[in-house]
Amino acid sequence: MNLDELYRETILDHNQSPRNKKELENPTKTVGLLNPTCGDQIRLDLQLEHGKVTDVGFTGHGCSISMASASMLTDAIKGKTVEEALALAGHFKAFLTGTPSPVTLGDLEALQGVSQFPSRVKCATLAHNALEKALNEETR
Ligand code: ZN
Repeated sequence: MNLDELYRETILDHNQSPRNKKELENPTKTVGLLNPTCGDQIRLDLQLEHGKVTDVGFTGHGCSISMASASMLTDAIKGKTVEEALALAGHFKAFLTGTPSPVTLGDLEALQGVSQFPSRVKCATLAHNALEKALNEETR
């Protein structure tokens, strides 16, 4: 299996079995965001305790890239501090414009190919933008 195939498999896996696709009972933060160019819609619920993301869930619908990215992101930030989660979102967005990430992005690296399609970058970053919106309010 070459890297392209591995990446495709990873994206497919997150689409078929999305991680953390649920609503939280009493989320600390809830942010809804829309990507009008593609029609992707996402709602991100965050449970924050002592500056950490203790639980996270997302709901919504959209293209496979937007949903896989949300699944990968929620998986990656669970248990991280608010600062680490924000840094991850920033690194991922930079990664999609060709800047290597200083930290491991895990499954999110499978979305690398999206950088060749500027219109799809908005799909891949939708969940990340929602996270930034939620957490920037928190640190203000
Ligand atoms: Zn999309």
